[in-house]
Amino acid sequence: MAHAPTARLTVLSGPSGVGKGTVVAEVRRRHPDVWLSVSATTRRPRPGEVDGVHYHFVDDAEFDRLIAADGLLEWAEYAGNRYGTPVAPVRARLASGAPALLEIELQGARQVRAREPEAQLVFLAPPSWAALVSRLAGRGSEPPAVQERRLVRAQAELDAAGEFDAVVVNDDVSRAADELVSLLTAPSSGSLRRSGAHE
Ligand code: ADP
Ligand code: 5GP
Repeated sequence: MAHAPTARLTVLSGPSGVGKGTVVAEVRRRHPDVWLSVSATTRRPRPGEVDGVHYHFVDDAEFDRLIAADGLLEWAEYAGNRYGTPVAPVRARLASGAPALLEIELQGARQVRAREPEAQLVFLAPPSWAALVSRLAGRGSEPPAVQERRLVRAQAELDAAGEFDAVVVNDDVSRAADELVSLLTAPSSGSLRRSGAHE
């Protein structure tokens, strides 16, 4: 993918089960050079998840240390676990002039907006509430009680779509991936490139 003249930080958010992971995987299949931040989490790995690839799986003490050392760009508690974006790799990526993508939940997206006003916030929306419920259940990775917690949270997240710079409806993975690629490569004002100014 041709990089925009100035590197931009893009945040993709949206309710659990909407298809963020699926759409990002499709974007990276087409454009392997799209760089995705690897978050730290206290959640246990799901079958097939690899430490350092899907997440950095850490315990509570390590997560506390990351916060204390100001090592996270943002972090949030989500459905009983903590998740956060290690700041150093994002800074390094943007400083090299290349775009960076975060896939995080709403509270984290709001923190990025407050800390990095030039970041582009993209909301991935389901075509309908019924589609969201069926995708979350269909993934089968959480027990029903956890799915229920995620759906309660999803309702609040859907209400926040208006806070985002762009909304992409995930009716079709290929079409949604096209739209996300266009947004990733859209020119920005470039102030994040001068990320050293924030440190
Ligand atoms: P998220 O990362 O937002 O939690 P996932 O990427 O894990 O969501 O997707 C949740 C489920 O929905 C998965 O089973 C995935 O295959 C399915 N899915 C994703 N996008 C679509 C789509 N456009 N149409 C139908 N099913 C989808
Ligand atoms: P999951 O447990 O399904 O992998 O992720 C649960 C939620 O946490 C998803 O909405 C995902 O986008 C979000 N998430 C993943 N990494 C981060 C992160 O670093 N920060 C924040 N705030 N949310 C994250």
